[in-house]
Amino acid sequence: MERFNNEGKLIVPEHAVIAHELKKLGVETAGVVRVKQVFCPNGHQLILRENTSFDNVPGIKLLLHGAHGTEEIYISSVLNKRQRSGGAIFRVGDRLEVRCPICSVQLPVLAPCDCQWDGEYVMLSLDEDPTNRNAVCFCNIWGCPNGDIRLAGEVIADYERNYEL
Ligand SMILES: [Zn+2]
Ligand SMILES: [Zn+2]
Repeated sequence: MERFNNEGKLIVPEHAVIAHELKKLGVETAGVVRVKQVFCPNGHQLILRENTSFDNVPGIKLLLHGAHGTEEIYISSVLNKRQRSGGAIFRVGDRLEVRCPICSVQLPVLAPCDCQWDGEYVMLSLDEDPTNRNAVCFCNIWGCPNGDIRLAGEVIADYERNYEL
């Protein structure tokens, strides 16, 4: 699939094309594009049926630790849609350690976020055999507009183009 046009801009593919590509990664696309499973580095699945739901689908459970305390929260499993519940103790701009709520392992950093707080994208694998691109990621700053989950491959492509790694 062509990723860039002649001007080096990312081509935004048709919904159906995205859906087909994502299906190969085990991502369900019924109406909205969302992930059904994400894993911590130790293989814990963080989308469970009993989790708080957004758009009628269970969210991703995370353990966040910052200067103002530690709290379990949920974020939407729908791609590019910033919704969350919990986290009232955190303030906009707080840098958070994002951890697995089951084993407390810290999620690995994927790439810098270009937000005003110099945040970092942390990643969750889409399967139990993680690679950098087969993952979703989000910024570890509370309140960053990039706090929704997005495909790691797209974030890496943006980063490589902007900073010429
Ligand atoms: Zn874990
Ligand atoms: Zn950010």
